[in-house]
Amino acid sequence: MTQPLPRDPEDALNPDAGDTSGDVVRCDACPVLCRIRRGQAGACDRYANEGGKLVRLDPLLLLQRRVDAGGAVVPFLEPGKPWDGTLISASNTFVTGIGATTTYPDYKPAPFIVASKADGVDVVTVVTEGIFSYCGLKLKIDTDRFLGPEQAAVRVQGEQVGHVTTAEYGSQMLALGGVRHLTGGSKKEGNVTCDAMLKLANREAVDLAIDGGARVRVQAGAPPIVNGEAEVRMRVGCGSATIGIFARQWLGHADEVIVVDDHITGVLTEHQAGRFLDMRPAGIRVRGRKSTPGRYFKVAEPGQGWGGTDISDPLSIIERIDAKAAWPGLRLLMVSTTGEDAAYFVLDDNLQPVKAPMPAPLRVVVERIAENCEPARATVLFMGGAGGSLRAGVTENPVRLTRSVRELVTRVTCGGAPVYVWPGGGITLMVDVLRMPERSFGYVPTPALVLPIEFTLPLDAYREMGGHMDSAVGLESVLREGRWRAEGWRDDNPWPVGTK
Ligand code: SF4
Repeated sequence: MTQPLPRDPEDALNPDAGDTSGDVVRCDACPVLCRIRRGQAGACDRYANEGGKLVRLDPLLLLQRRVDAGGAVVPFLEPGKPWDGTLISASNTFVTGIGATTTYPDYKPAPFIVASKADGVDVVTVVTEGIFSYCGLKLKIDTDRFLGPEQAAVRVQGEQVGHVTTAEYGSQMLALGGVRHLTGGSKKEGNVTCDAMLKLANREAVDLAIDGGARVRVQAGAPPIVNGEAEVRMRVGCGSATIGIFARQWLGHADEVIVVDDHITGVLTEHQAGRFLDMRPAGIRVRGRKSTPGRYFKVAEPGQGWGGTDISDPLSIIERIDAKAAWPGLRLLMVSTTGEDAAYFVLDDNLQPVKAPMPAPLRVVVERIAENCEPARATVLFMGGAGGSLRAGVTENPVRLTRSVRELVTRVTCGGAPVYVWPGGGITLMVDVLRMPERSFGYVPTPALVLPIEFTLPLDAYREMGGHMDSAVGLESVLREGRWRAEGWRDDNPWPVGTK
């Protein structure tokens, strides 16, 4: 289901304000404080007025291991059916923040503080849906094509939602969202940014336009589509690395190999790999700035052509051929870092490269370059700061939670998925949206993203940090009182409670 653009918070304060008939209920799960008519949903579509009662529309999500740490099959909660009272072990059932609701203001205890036992130790998991005004997405786009200059604006519907950041090894990184786009620009910029982030985080495709660059369709886990073409291969490495990997396989079949790459173009006979193989210098000088022997920067401009450059004719990067070093009959292979583009030339009597059919042994190596490329994918990491007021729902002394996370006493998960917590102050975390359950994210029109977050720690440590001990309940209580559904645990995620 595609969610609509975030609504204006003002719309939520409907004219029935002040109604005392019970037909209107007030939601206080976020600062918008919607007043919701009977049978209708609030501005974020997460809460509704059902028969005069405020309800969270998505049920609480429980994740269950099918087999416990000792190898025994775990009795399973049946989706859609009320709990029949069967003994369900809390050590195999994890209560996620999905559908958990939010407490606002945060000084109230989190919606669920679930006590259980793991490895003979009493533990608690504090569960909530966090509202993140300070959040963004880091996108890793596996491509060597030029997406846009560093710092260029990334736009959706004409609004800037982020920018191009560094190019990494075979990938272009984009940074989307962040508090400045969510709250620091126009209302439309904030809403469009929130909507684009919500869709990407919930694994939907979003079309991005980059100033001075490409149009890219991005979807978590799917090949990026650059200017209408699906990217297939992630390059094997830079031009120099490609030479390092395949030099020996070219020996005896080519007198020179030039691997065209936007970042580092490699020239075999000049490169250390060619020297080690005692290859004769071929005297073919490429354009650009020489970094070290056989490694050249900026042989062309970035673009959609060979190796992420703007060239379609590989010979255009040859600056000169040294008559003292080159010889008629010299065999030259030019290839890109994905093997998608390759051409074979032989120098004529005037030392001019003449295109020729590629010999089979060279064709094999070109195909091996392609084989060594991994499938191109788009990765979406959510990044947000949980170091703010939501900590008060966990403990009366929030800095102790921060320290406990830093000291690895408290484990943080998002919908059960492992997170990376940045060093330094606060609890600034990153999580791969593909490791979270589907449609884990929601929004509120402040605008901000809403996502599940769970803190798991030993009960003793929870007591010491000033946790809301009186609010701790057993799993049975959650099953009895809450609206819930159960799904199987993803085996590629580590079980977050205890050590097994
Ligand atoms: S936007 Fe959603 S969470 Fe916020 S008050 Fe309205 S219904 Fe409640």
